[in-house]
Amino acid sequence: MTEPNTASAAPSASSSTSPAARDFAQLPLSPTALANLQALGYERMTPIQAASLPLSLAGRDLIAQAKTGSGKTAAFTLPLLANLNPRRFAVQALVLCPTRELADQVAGEVRRLARAEDNIKVLTLCGGSPVQPQLVSLSHGAHIVVGTPGRVLDHLDRASLALDALATLVLDEADRMLDMGFADEIKQVLKHCPAQRQTLMFSATYPEGVQALATRFMRQPQTVTIKEAH
Ligand code: ADP
Ligand code: MG
Repeated sequence: MTEPNTASAAPSASSSTSPAARDFAQLPLSPTALANLQALGYERMTPIQAASLPLSLAGRDLIAQAKTGSGKTAAFTLPLLANLNPRRFAVQALVLCPTRELADQVAGEVRRLARAEDNIKVLTLCGGSPVQPQLVSLSHGAHIVVGTPGRVLDHLDRASLALDALATLVLDEADRMLDMGFADEIKQVLKHCPAQRQTLMFSATYPEGVQALATRFMRQPQTVTIKEAH
């Protein structure tokens, strides 16, 4: 199921920093998605977006490393939205985050970036929140789930969440999730994911544990590293 890691070298900085190379319009995005980015004030791709989006929008698995504040959320949200069929009301994207605060931030950015599409439902499932309201929300369905590994696994074990329709799995702040001891939960969640999917891993650093996870669960991932942002 898992192929060997044949990650490529990072693209040169010059390919991602020239103004023309950072125009969102060169990406295979719909006119409505481009108009929405403009309305949000996203005039140019950040370096990590410019280096990763051509690969991720082409369907590649990706390990992206760039510092905090460099625009990694949009770098995984645009491809997960591109993989999503709004008319299919099932969970097609799962974003795992280390904390509830980060999950809430990501969900907010996903909603902003998705607002050009018709009625995409985003649900957060985090530990520290009561389970019952989450069960009610899940019974109404969602297209995208953003959550912390423990609570997402809890819902998978209860069968209140199913990932049969999953097209995109995102591990955001993978290094921090491993630091916080979520490795086992993440591996359990991965067992519930269909083999045929796109996996995107984002991290501020790229320690051995993150590499090991990538080697095990990603399909010939491309590696994109940006040393300094903006
Ligand atoms: P990271 O996850 O790398 O820490 P975020 O995804 O949270 O960074 O982005 C940091 C901020 O930059 C957010 O407020 C986001 O809305 C904004 N942002 C992201 N991409 C762009 C862009 N291309 N143009 C302008 N602002 C952007
Ligand atoms: Mg982030």
